[in-house]
Amino acid sequence: MTMNPSVGAPVQHLDRLGRHLGIELYAQRDDLLPFPLAGNKARKLHAELKGFRAVPSILVTNGAVDSNHCRTTAWMAAELGVQSHLVLHGRSEGHATSLRLLDALGATYTIVHPDDIASAIAEAVRRAHLAGGTPHVIPGGGHSPRGARVYRRVGRRVLRTVGADVTFVASGTGATHGGLTAAAELEGERTRVVGVSVARQAERGVAAVAEAAAWAGAPNATIEFWDDYRAGGYGLSDERIDEAVALGWRFGLPLDATYTGKAFAALIDHARANRRSRVLFWHTGGLWNFVVQGGT
Ligand SMILES: *Cc1c(COP(=O)(O)O)cnc(C)c1O
Repeated sequence: MTMNPSVGAPVQHLDRLGRHLGIELYAQRDDLLPFPLAGNKARKLHAELKGFRAVPSILVTNGAVDSNHCRTTAWMAAELGVQSHLVLHGRSEGHATSLRLLDALGATYTIVHPDDIASAIAEAVRRAHLAGGTPHVIPGGGHSPRGARVYRRVGRRVLRTVGADVTFVASGTGATHGGLTAAAELEGERTRVVGVSVARQAERGVAAVAEAAAWAGAPNATIEFWDDYRAGGYGLSDERIDEAVALGWRFGLPLDATYTGKAFAALIDHARANRRSRVLFWHTGGLWNFVVQGGT
């Protein structure tokens, strides 16, 4: 593996943007991990894959057609010299750029109805076994104990360094948010860790984050999960999110409407009500989502 996620993802003091918002603003730039189009999936998948004693012959996982998790899996598989098979949902129309990248990386994929994901994964595993291979299935979104624990580890270091009043992070499957929540809890940090939902409503979202926090060693952690910046659901946006994205870009901070823009919109509202507070924005990536938004 060429990536070492413990290096190259800096904490930055975003002085000018912070002054604009009236807060002390810091960012943990996981979008700058040493991996192409990096984000939290690079960190989570690296943690998932480095645990192997014998490298499998094929990685199987699932996600949306534009999924950062699926693309990163295909990319790491290509680096490792193993096959990848992706079970994708969503329509292929409008996603030619994402599919072209998966093709270039040598991934195979099927695009199925969401109801058929589990059976398509089972079928891929069966075929791999028949061909004498050793398949390994990675949970969708990299939602796994290893993913949560790697965020606890890096979270403890970064939260201690920054000493923020509150940390904002985009929350999807919940492994990143759960790991960071566990980090704050175990570190005895006063920072609140606010996960801003990119898709799920509170009931389902909180349960998944609590599960991830438990994987990371904090089964009784308090979960702060904000579900009022979803803009209707995964991949949807509204004016408030679009404005947050536009503001970030004007200050040179790349954001996207699917993930980081939702977390940043919540951060902006927090800043309005809490001038001079010390805030950490945990940047989870999403540059590809900005690039392909609208589809090509
Ligand atoms: C997947 C993803 C998230 C959500 O991470 P989870 O660990 O699934 O909650 C946030 N931001 C970006 C850019 C992502 O790709």
